Amino acid sequence: MGNASSIDSSVVVYLEVSGKQEKIVFSKHCSSRDIHDLVAQAAGCSKYCILTLKDPNGAHISMSPTMPSNTPSAPYKVQVSQPTSNQGDSEVLTQLMTHVADQFNKAFKVEEMRSEISTRLTALERKLEMEGLKAVEIEKCKKDISEIKDQIWTAQKKFVDFNRMRPLLYGSNTHDHFYSSLSDERKICLKRDIPSYPKYTLSQETIDYLKQPTFDIWHWEPNEMLSLLEHMYHELGLVKEFSINPITLKRWLLCVQENYRNNPFHNFRHCFCVTQMMYGMIHLCKLWDYMTREEIGILLTASVCHDLDHPGYNNTYQINARTELAIRYNDISPLENHHCAVSFQILCNPETNIFANLDKDGFKRVRAGITQLILATDMARHSEIIESFKSKLEGKFDFKSKEQLDTLKMVLIKCCDISNEVRPMEVSEPWVDCLLEEYFNQSDREKMEGLPVAPFMDRDKVTKPTAQIGFIKFVLIPMFETVSKLFPQIDETMVQPLRLARDRYEGMKEQTTPPNPKSQKDQAAKKDGE
Ligand code: 5GP
Ligand code: MN
Repeated sequence: MGNASSIDSSVVVYLEVSGKQEKIVFSKHCSSRDIHDLVAQAAGCSKYCILTLKDPNGAHISMSPTMPSNTPSAPYKVQVSQPTSNQGDSEVLTQLMTHVADQFNKAFKVEEMRSEISTRLTALERKLEMEGLKAVEIEKCKKDISEIKDQIWTAQKKFVDFNRMRPLLYGSNTHDHFYSSLSDERKICLKRDIPSYPKYTLSQETIDYLKQPTFDIWHWEPNEMLSLLEHMYHELGLVKEFSINPITLKRWLLCVQENYRNNPFHNFRHCFCVTQMMYGMIHLCKLWDYMTREEIGILLTASVCHDLDHPGYNNTYQINARTELAIRYNDISPLENHHCAVSFQILCNPETNIFANLDKDGFKRVRAGITQLILATDMARHSEIIESFKSKLEGKFDFKSKEQLDTLKMVLIKCCDISNEVRPMEVSEPWVDCLLEEYFNQSDREKMEGLPVAPFMDRDKVTKPTAQIGFIKFVLIPMFETVSKLFPQIDETMVQPLRLARDRYEGMKEQTTPPNPKSQKDQAAKKDGE
C-alpha cells in the first residue's frame, strides 16, 4: 500500500491544443476524473470546462486510464467548450421535472418503509440479545433480520438514486455547493452490513505495535483498519465500560467509515491515524491513572468522529463561498459543527449507537464531552486553547478539576489531529502530498470562483518544506513541548521526532532553493579579495 507509483504503470499521451503540442503522463491506476483535470490543465482551461478529444481521423477518444497512448506525430486534438447550466430545451426540462416529482413520491414512501423496518429490526435484535432464545427461534430471527436488512438496502439504494438527481435540478456547477449531496438518511443507514466486514485475527506483534507512534498506518486496508479500531475499544475496556453490544460496535465503525469521503487528506485513513495516535498517547501517558474510562471513551470516540463527512474544502472556503454549511452554522466553525452533527446522527440511530446502554445522564455527559472535543479541533481556536492550557500548567495541574481536565483533553485531541509529523518520515511524508493536493484543489477553485486564496494553499507559492517548516516550528513543537511538561515520557517518542522532521525539511529546503544571487556575488567578491 502507500503512495508508491511504478514507472511501468505510466501512460504518455500527446495532445494538440490550438495548434500547440502538449504531453501528459498519468498512471493507469488514476481515475478518469484525474485525466480530465490533467487535460484541462494542459489545455490551460478550467477543469469545469467541457473537453473533447479526437484522434487525427476525427474519432472521439474517451478520457480514461485505459485510453490508447499515441505518438507525437499523431496527437489527439483537444476541443474546449464552456460549461453551460442550460440543461436542454423545455421538453427535456418538462420530462426531468416529471421524473423528479415521481422520485419525490417514491422517496417519501421509502422513508416510511425504512422507518418501520428499522423499528422492527431493533426490536428483533433486542429480543435476540436479551432473551437467549432457543436455537430454532434464533435461526428464524436471524433469517428475518437478514431479509429486513435486504429491504433496507434496497430502500436505501432508491434514496441514493433519487439524490443523484439533485445536481441536475440545481445545475451542474452548484452540486458541490449543494453540500449535502446525499440526504441525511445515508448517514444513519449502512450500505453494507457486518458480514461483508471480515473478522481479522490480530497477531500479538500487531497488537503491541498498534500502541506506538511508529505504527505504519499505510499498511492496512480499510477493513483491517476497522478491526484495529474495534480492537482498541475492547482492549481499553470501553466495550465493558459502556456495555457496548459488540455487533453494534462493528456496525457503528462501518457506518463511520462510510461517512468519510474520499478526499486526498480528510479521509477515513486520516480518521484512523488520529485515533491510533490517541490510542498510543492513552497508553504512553497511562491516562487511566488520571481520568475515568468514560473520559477515555470520549477521547477515542471524538478522534474517530472528528472529521466525519469533511468535504475537502476548509472553513475559510465555506465562509467565503457562503456554502450551505456556513449559512447553517453562521460562519462559526461550520465544518467542526457539521462533523459533530453527523457523529450524533449516527449515534442517535439505535442500530449504530454504541452508547445505547448508557443511562440518560451518562449519554448526556458523553455527548457533551465528544462535542467539546470535536469543536476544539478548529485550528482557528488554536491559540485560545493552548494559552488556556498553559495558564493551567503554571500552578500544579489539577486532574480533579473538570475544567482543567477538559482543557487537557482538548489539547490531546489537537495533538493527535495534527500529529503526522510525529511519525517516522516514510509514514509522514506522503501525508504532506495529500494535504497539498487538497489545498491546491481548494485554491484552484477559489481562483476560478474569484474568492480570496491563502498563500499557504497556492500551488505557485508553497512547497513541501515551506509548508512543513513553519508548521512544525511554530505549531507542533511548542504544543507537544507544553504537553511534555505534564507527561515527560512524550519527549523522546513525540517531540524528538518532530525536531528531526524540522531539521530534515530545513535541509530539503536548502537543497531545493536556488542560491541567492546577492550572496553569490558577496562570496565571489570575498574570494577576489583573498
Ligand atoms: P483537521 O482537523 O482539518 O484535520 O486539521 C487541522 C488543520 O491543520 C488541517 O486542515 C491543516 O490545515 C493543518 N495541518 C494538519 N497537519 C498538517 C501538516 O502536517 N502540515 C501543515 N502545514 N498543516 C497541517
Ligand atoms: Mn482532522
